[in-house]
Amino acid sequence: MAVLVIADVHANLQALDAVLEDAGEVDAVWCLGDSVGYGAQPNEVLARLRAVGALCVAGNHEWAALERLDLRTFNPAAAEAARWTAEALSAASHAMLSELPERRVEDRCTLVHGSPRDPIWEYILAPWVARENFDFFDTRVCFFGHTHVPAAHGLVHPAMPESPTGRVHGDQAIELHPGDRYLLNPGSVGQPRDEDERAAYLLWDPDTRGCQWRRVDYDVEAAQALIRDAGLPDVLWQRLGVGR
Ligand code: ZN
Repeated sequence: MAVLVIADVHANLQALDAVLEDAGEVDAVWCLGDSVGYGAQPNEVLARLRAVGALCVAGNHEWAALERLDLRTFNPAAAEAARWTAEALSAASHAMLSELPERRVEDRCTLVHGSPRDPIWEYILAPWVARENFDFFDTRVCFFGHTHVPAAHGLVHPAMPESPTGRVHGDQAIELHPGDRYLLNPGSVGQPRDEDERAAYLLWDPDTRGCQWRRVDYDVEAAQALIRDAGLPDVLWQRLGVGR
């Protein structure tokens, strides 16, 4: 069985389509939130996620687009993009976002956007934050996003000291020990922030616990042109070219 795990698409249809094509045939798509915000194609991205039957959770940018949170918690460019997105959402997109849960459990894995402790807001950037979060989910594996940086954190048996504890670079596969617990981040499809501008995703096999991070080139210039033409802040298209 193959599951495509994605996060932080951020209304970037070019990146999402490149990932869907590169991943090939999969049995399920799990999407860890922030499908909208920053990019210029929120409705197109949400329609594509519906078309592939993606199982999604809500992120802070979905809540911002639904006007469920105070935009003063966003930086100015993010707030402007959130207002633009709220305005652009079709009725179908609005309905889809309104029904998203903050967390779900699929095939013995927990799915959240930020962290199991605080699914909408908390960033798991440091190993000690990851460690605290193992108390807030019951499954052996939890997938999360929000940081836009691919990562693996393991809570492993003391006899297995070589646990992954942080960033994952480029294409990489990790064999997970059956008895251990993990917090895994696929990285961002539509706005990578690890100085690699390629779209990031993860392939997961629930049966073998095989876990493969992948990067794929996409048409960055096309995504940038759409953001520019939409009149969104310059920083939002500029950062796509440098992956920051
Ligand atoms: Zn995000």
